[in-house]
Amino acid sequence: MRTVVLASETDFEGWKTAARGLRLEGVEPARARFVTGEAGQAALFGGEEAGGPQQEAGAFAVPRAFVETAGNLILHRAADRFDLMYRLLWRLRDEPDLMRVVSDPDVAAAAERVKNVSRASHKMKAFVRFRETTDADGERWVAWFEPAHRVLEKTAPFFARRFSTMRWSILTPDGTAHWDGQFLTFGPPGRQDEAPQEDEVEDFWRTYYASTFNPARLRTKMMQSEMPKRYWKNLPEAALIQELVASAVVRTDVMVSEPATLPNERFQRLRAPVIDRAATDEMVPSDLAELGRGVQGCRRCPLWRDATQGVCGQGPAQARLMIVGEQPGDQEDLAGAPFVGPAGRLLDAALVEAGIDRAETYLTNAVKHFKHEPRGKQRLHKTPNAGEVQACRWWLDHERKLVRPRLILALGATAGLAVLGRKPAVQAERGVVIDTPEGDRVLLTVHPAYLLRLPDPEARRRERAAFVADLRKAKDDTIRA
Ligand code: SF4
Repeated sequence: MRTVVLASETDFEGWKTAARGLRLEGVEPARARFVTGEAGQAALFGGEEAGGPQQEAGAFAVPRAFVETAGNLILHRAADRFDLMYRLLWRLRDEPDLMRVVSDPDVAAAAERVKNVSRASHKMKAFVRFRETTDADGERWVAWFEPAHRVLEKTAPFFARRFSTMRWSILTPDGTAHWDGQFLTFGPPGRQDEAPQEDEVEDFWRTYYASTFNPARLRTKMMQSEMPKRYWKNLPEAALIQELVASAVVRTDVMVSEPATLPNERFQRLRAPVIDRAATDEMVPSDLAELGRGVQGCRRCPLWRDATQGVCGQGPAQARLMIVGEQPGDQEDLAGAPFVGPAGRLLDAALVEAGIDRAETYLTNAVKHFKHEPRGKQRLHKTPNAGEVQACRWWLDHERKLVRPRLILALGATAGLAVLGRKPAVQAERGVVIDTPEGDRVLLTVHPAYLLRLPDPEARRRERAAFVADLRKAKDDTIRA
């Protein structure tokens, strides 16, 4: 019997070198033995023929599938895994396509064990629970975990990527992994009592688990397959499982007896009566309320899809002054009312300064749905394009006909485009009443959001004063007209 002593249970490089040499020497699987740890020491002193190959390894190619299989198979806890690996290697020389024969007992046994290893790695990613502690360098997160197979080194890079900014250690009975924010290192086996036993995050896990547990969908077997009992003792949320399972029937009965919850708002919108371009072309809203209902079902352009709701104008139907902005912003979209966000608050203050009563003014936007793009949890404003402005002009034109204001104050280029039907030069044309072919009188000025974006305080003060002066002109004009 030839015995090879490997440096560790997962010494794949050592196994590869020794196994290749033994195969070239012609040492049959029945005469080769790979051992580690105490078994290895016993073999060295037990009179067996110890040591690896006697001759230098020569050329010996094996398929990549075998190397990948063996690299995972060695992580399995089965004591005979080395024998299985060497048996496959032995046979590959005469059966180069062996790894493709899935019905072969050795190949099938290897595949099953690789699957076990992969599952153990997946469970480790799901069930490692870090607990907070501190050391000389500050905050550190430590987890105790008992993997089903020796997957620590295989799986630790996942945690380095996922928790790259934290300093953490994972302690297992097979070894330890440590991440210092830059380098991943491995050490000797750890002990459970070296990891903190409980911290404040435990409550978070328990609350999270309880809130995601749906008693009506309880399938105990499936749950135990996804969260095997062997992991429960290190999972804070596992303490809740028996209680949640025991109360599942009662909680399901209560859920069934309660009234149905409201359908998802977005889903409701998708099912709302559609008013496409052809349909709206036929429709002539008789008042602002009907126009408002029409906007909610409008599909003349794609902007309705990502908005919470259409935001119509607000104010008296016979207002002398109509103010037109660009489009609802984030807060307007949620509130369903125009000019309630930061730009709206600036406008309110400027109106007061100019002596204009907002309650007597009709405020609306060129485009009725909020155009934006998601950025993390934020929704960033996007300027509507000319096609969207043109599509929504249909609603603005009806508002103009219904309100018939003495003067329309257009805030910014998009509002100017919607009201005038052409792209205006706002700074050059501001402050002068423009007569439109439709018989409306229009005054141009900047949008209050422009003032908010100015970084220079002096420029902001100057532009704000000019904005208030334009509002005063609008007020004077509506009084005179
Ligand atoms: Fe209709 Fe205007 Fe909304 Fe586009 S933005 S869907 S045109 S209401």
